[in-house]
Formats: sequence, structure tokens, C-alpha cells
Amino acid sequence: MACSNSPEKSNHASSVPELKENKNDTIQIVCLYFKEKNILHAIKFKIESYYHCPTVVKEMGMPESLISINPYKYEGNKIINFLSKQNINHYRFVVGLTSKDICTPKNGNKVWGVFGLGSRDGRGCISSTCRLKRGVTEQKLTERLEKVVLHEIGHNHGLDHCVSAYPCFMKDAGGKIKTVDDEPMDMCIECKRKINS
Ligand SMILES: [Zn+2]
Ligand SMILES: [Zn+2]
Repeated sequence: MACSNSPEKSNHASSVPELKENKNDTIQIVCLYFKEKNILHAIKFKIESYYHCPTVVKEMGMPESLISINPYKYEGNKIINFLSKQNINHYRFVVGLTSKDICTPKNGNKVWGVFGLGSRDGRGCISSTCRLKRGVTEQKLTERLEKVVLHEIGHNHGLDHCVSAYPCFMKDAGGKIKTVDDEPMDMCIECKRKINS
């Protein structure tokens, strides 16, 4: 007659803390001329599961006013300003996705191409598949974009680039795709502590 209802005990003895749950902090995903629709669901799911938040998706084109001095690149900072201004519903962060090439001034180059850009003041971020998709499978592209998007949202949480000794997706990729491929799909314990504090 013994009722053997023994719930499985999960082992949370790991020293790495989980990120705190933020139930009412919805992230808005804005597709700004984002062509890789097949992987959108995976990106949305990754954001929700990693940062423990709901997301909503909005689709739109890329405004030509955000183009840089190079006609094939769009300026990351202008995109973030645009996303922030259209955030009239006050979503916690606005996470832009695009297939267009994006750039930011760096190392004396006004149109330095980047995988993504995120503001540390929490206004928003933009990630591009343009430099991630060359010659790779959809699965590989998904993995790369997931890491880039999680990295940019890390900046939105106030994180700077990680200089800890641990593997971490908040390291500065410096434009190198190998860095993205080699890094884990997780931030290190030091970055998690900063977000949780
Ligand atoms: Zn970064
Ligand atoms: Zn880190």
C-alpha cells in the first residue's frame, strides 16, 4: 500500500548559478529584412530558454535611412537607435535580426563589418546573418546566430566583453568567426554573477 511517489531529485550541486528568472520582462524580436525564416523559431526559443523570458516577434523591412556611407552596409548604432525609438510598448530589450550587412566604426574604419552590436544601456541590439552564413549548413548558421544574439543581449544586460579565464560567449570575437565557433553556448560564472547581482 505504500505510495511510492518519489519525485526525481535533480542535482543542483553545481557551483555555476542559473540566471534568475524575470517573468515579466518580455523581449521584442524585430526582424528587419531577416530572410532566414526557417531558423527564427530556434533563435526565439534559445532567447526564451536562456534568459528565462517571453518574447514577441515583429516583422518589418530595413529602413534605408539606416544605411551607412557604404551603400551595402547598415550602421549598427543607427539601427539600435531606431529599434529603441519604435519600442513604444516598453519591452525590456529590442533584439533586431537582419540578413543585411551591418557595421560600426572601429580601428579607424568607419564601416567595420560586425556580426552584431548591442548597447550596454539596454536599449537594444542587432545581429546579422550576413557574415555568419557563408558556406555553412542551416544548423551551423543557427548555432552561430544563437551565440551572437545571446552575446548581444548580454551587452543589453550591462555586460562588457569578458576577460575571465573561463570559456564564455561574452568574449570579444574581434570579427573572427572561429572565435564564435569555438566558444560555448553559455556565459561564464563571472558574467552570470554580474547579471544576477
Ligand atoms: Zn560584444
Ligand atoms: Zn564571461
